[in-house]
Amino acid sequence: MVPVVVAAVLVGLLSAPLLRGLVARFAVPEGEPWCEACPSCAREVRLLPPTGRCPGCRERLGAGPGTVEAVAVAVAFAVGCAADGPAAGALGWAAALGVALGFVDARVRRLPYRLTLPLLGGVAALLALAALAEGRPGVLLRCLLAAFAVGAVLELAVWVGALGPGDSPLGFTLGGLLGWYGWSVALGGLVAAVVLAGVWAVLRAGAALARRRPVRGLDVPVGPFLLLGALTAVLAR
Ligand SMILES: [Zn+2]
Repeated sequence: MVPVVVAAVLVGLLSAPLLRGLVARFAVPEGEPWCEACPSCAREVRLLPPTGRCPGCRERLGAGPGTVEAVAVAVAFAVGCAADGPAAGALGWAAALGVALGFVDARVRRLPYRLTLPLLGGVAALLALAALAEGRPGVLLRCLLAAFAVGAVLELAVWVGALGPGDSPLGFTLGGLLGWYGWSVALGGLVAAVVLAGVWAVLRAGAALARRRPVRGLDVPVGPFLLLGALTAVLAR
């Protein structure tokens, strides 16, 4: 257990510069080109240090200093605690891209397909490998059904305008991943996401009222809460 957690945290630390680079590249508003290069010195945005500054010109790019690193290590610790069995690879992949997606959604309220599609492809491939390794391919049917069930619930919410278009593909992938652990975990992830997002919305509205600012609807990025809800459900199973 302890070596797995230590290894997971190390992987989290080592992947942080890459995740920070992904956040800087993809946290751009809808309709604008991806930030492939530093706007000041044109240096390619790939790996970024914890300061969040471009290594070429020290321009601030993407997320605030230390934030991606702190979240990556915390998520890696949680995944290290929760991971057992052959699905650990899929969980780790979802956690890594999930950190990047969470930051991007929190900053610009979108979940780019350039991140959600590799997330879906990686989770599907790693779950298929895990099912083969365990010799029970039937579990993939439950994953697929859970993916469609969670994806359909979120797609309905997209139709009525409660969620953004990127939320249902993310929910599809997370539903499939949680389906590996069972229907109760898939349902638990969705419920945890709704509860966490609701608590956050109420806290924000309360803080706005306390500062005598107007409450601007329920302007909450849903992606981070879907991801957090999924992690909570896997941890609590
Ligand atoms: Zn630069």
